[in-house]
Amino acid sequence: MSVVRYVCIGNPITYSPHESIGNKQILNNDEERKCIFCGKTEKDTTFKKEAHLFPAGLGNRTFFNKNECDMCNEHIFSPCEDDLCNLLELDRILTGSRKRSSYPKIKNRDGVMQRKGKENNLIIEFGGDRGKFDLIEHHEKNKIEIKVKKPMPYNEVNICKAIAHIGWSFLSESTRESFSYLGKWLIGELSIFPLHLDIAFVPALYEKGVFEIKESTSSFNKFPLLFRFLFESKVLTFYIPINHEVSTEPLPDWNYIDNMERDEEFKISRRIVQYDKRTYPDDVSYTFKYNNRDKAFPLLEE
Ligand SMILES: [Zn+2]
Repeated sequence: MSVVRYVCIGNPITYSPHESIGNKQILNNDEERKCIFCGKTEKDTTFKKEAHLFPAGLGNRTFFNKNECDMCNEHIFSPCEDDLCNLLELDRILTGSRKRSSYPKIKNRDGVMQRKGKENNLIIEFGGDRGKFDLIEHHEKNKIEIKVKKPMPYNEVNICKAIAHIGWSFLSESTRESFSYLGKWLIGELSIFPLHLDIAFVPALYEKGVFEIKESTSSFNKFPLLFRFLFESKVLTFYIPINHEVSTEPLPDWNYIDNMERDEEFKISRRIVQYDKRTYPDDVSYTFKYNNRDKAFPLLEE
């Protein structure tokens, strides 16, 4: 396979999903309020809500965008962020990142899985019905498996938009201008198919949300930019084509954050998104290894 190289534009952007009051960073803090997505100003739209740059549901209390209007925020990007939170359902619970007022959880009829902040353990209580999640112990291998049945559905187009929504806010105005088709796609004025999204599972639990914008070093690359978002154990990479009509597949960028070494547990699923529709994922399992069961992975069972 030919080698493709992407280099980071600027430093990776990080936030802690656990901090309730961080140093607020407000982007695009111009005098004139003009939405960087739809282009409307205060004459034509409102800017009353604080627009979260990373989703609030992923614990962001740090980054906000002053120039995102209420219409774009609530009607276009909120549903996309909800889908991203659905995809990261289990990661949100495992990291114990705060929602607006509580902590995310999975609930079945009378059981619950939740972690209330990073100082606390993951709590799993089982009721009579093990319908939604299950715990399978492999004592002989020092492993515990958490199985979530029927994970939340999501739309992969919305996942790509949620990632691009973050990236778009960090791009310079001139870069946004050269990718103006992408801005139109973000607000639904045009479609791009197929979309290319890599979803990687990394055997590490990151305590931070990390975002990278990378550009290709080759001027022949039909995917000159990529956005990469790392949250807990998932790394999502969305490849940005040079225009909305590119039909080839991007060569993957395997140079992951921190130059993580790939090993057998580093799984990457390459998604080619052809349709704007909801995906109902298969059951997912997380396996934890431990040396000392109580220390490595404290659990409270029913
Ligand atoms: Zn707008």
